[in-house]
Amino acid sequence: MARVNPNYRKLSAGYLFPEIERRVAAFQEENPAAKIHRLGIGNTTEALTPAVIAGLKDGVERLAAVETYSGYGDEQGQLELRRALSRYYDSLGAAIDPDEFFISDGAKPDAGNIQSIFSDNSIIAFQDPAYPVYVDSNVIAGRSGPYDPPQGLYSGFIYMRCSEENGFIPAPPSEKVDLIYLCSPNNPTGAVANRRQLRAFVDYARKHRAVIIFDAAYAEFINDPALPRTIFEIEGAAECAIEINSFSKFAGFTGVRLGWSIVPKALTVEDSEHAEVHRYWLRRQTTFFNGASNIAQRGGLAVLSVEGLRQCRELIGYYMENARIIGEGLRKHGLTVYGGENAPYLWVKAPGGLSSWEFFDRLLQEAHVVGTPGSGFGPSGEGYFRLSAFGHRPDIEAAVESITTRLEI
Ligand SMILES: *Cc1c(COP(=O)(O)O)cnc(C)c1O
Repeated sequence: MARVNPNYRKLSAGYLFPEIERRVAAFQEENPAAKIHRLGIGNTTEALTPAVIAGLKDGVERLAAVETYSGYGDEQGQLELRRALSRYYDSLGAAIDPDEFFISDGAKPDAGNIQSIFSDNSIIAFQDPAYPVYVDSNVIAGRSGPYDPPQGLYSGFIYMRCSEENGFIPAPPSEKVDLIYLCSPNNPTGAVANRRQLRAFVDYARKHRAVIIFDAAYAEFINDPALPRTIFEIEGAAECAIEINSFSKFAGFTGVRLGWSIVPKALTVEDSEHAEVHRYWLRRQTTFFNGASNIAQRGGLAVLSVEGLRQCRELIGYYMENARIIGEGLRKHGLTVYGGENAPYLWVKAPGGLSSWEFFDRLLQEAHVVGTPGSGFGPSGEGYFRLSAFGHRPDIEAAVESITTRLEI
């Protein structure tokens, strides 16, 4: 008699986005003439750049001739792409061997799967609020106790509270943990850890033989040259950190699908030999995954070319100008806004002590703007609201105009 994996029953209902859509649909039905502005999407909207399109076309053309055709490729990804990534990391001030990269179909799958190479009874720490895959993948793997609805927490997990007081970047846990998920620049808060803050986590991890899983999907959105774009800028990180990154937000590959992870050979845990963790990630990937699309990998190579990088950074600049417009408009209107300077997310404090959902309703009813309630990312997100800078400029401007002329605060 087959049975389901009971851990799926433990998952707190993934009701955030369906509930948003339900409320938007109800509003639209009552107000058919209202034009709804969306500032909630965590999805890219602008076209791929010409250099990247040329790279993708080259990937297709190669499949058209027997001389250049390829089937399954190298298990860790095309060597040319891993070499280009290694040069890219050199430019960020981190020396990573091409052999330490694993090319994948995106950062979300890697962020969800990486836990599988660690012990079942690992104690895990998460930022609160957080991108949901870190918590959910560990619930499914059976590392949590039950979900506690009043608190919005799973027992057995360590939550690192991100608040106004700590600038939304927590200190390392006070107790001993085994795995720590960090996302910087952060989705949803838009906060970025500085070198000192990252060094504190690296020092903690080395002291306790813990592993940091660092999601750097928004690294290219950092404007401030003093902020670290990779955890491997921090001395000693190669002994204790794994980095996950993606071309999704970097180059608009959300639908193309291409990412990478770095598991250094120097990374060891309590009971592992040199390079054993690295080998197990390779083993995991070769067992469950058959490599990223060769077409997408030619596109990735084009992103990392001189012209590709220039164009993709210009595209990021476009989104960051959107972020500036949203931040400036909302602050002028009297709202307290965090983030948006080195990340495409703005973390708005709900005015007048409103809850995240109360503010959602007010923004929808009065300004016809849709965002994402912060409480949907964890209990410490309560009282906050995420706005996204992804969108076409005219739509962004219309949304900001609507907020500043219609929202009463
Ligand atoms: C969008 C996003 C990713 C990217 O995921 P892909 O699977 O590469 O598209 C990863 N982490 C965070 C925090 C994100 O917001």
